[in-house]
Amino acid sequence: MSERLDCGYVAERVHRFLDGELTETEADELRLHIHACDHCLDETDLIDALKRLVSRACACPQAPPTLRAKIVTEIHRVTFTRVEIREIG
Ligand SMILES: [Zn+2]
Repeated sequence: MSERLDCGYVAERVHRFLDGELTETEADELRLHIHACDHCLDETDLIDALKRLVSRACACPQAPPTLRAKIVTEIHRVTFTRVEIREIG
């Protein structure tokens, strides 16, 4: 069933998936694909980790707004420059 989705479809929606903004049906579809696809699982883990970092930065009164903006930019870059991120990380 996971064959119904391709990795591009998942990549386009993974941010909204992690933010809980997809419908239940869409989220289920993505979940099925992600768990069947090493590539998407890696990517989702990475984005999820970055999002946690943002939550922490947001919860910390000392975190400068520029840091938060930088992390948010980084998250949106991940989908498109996966290879670059992997080389750095
Ligand atoms: Zn995939």
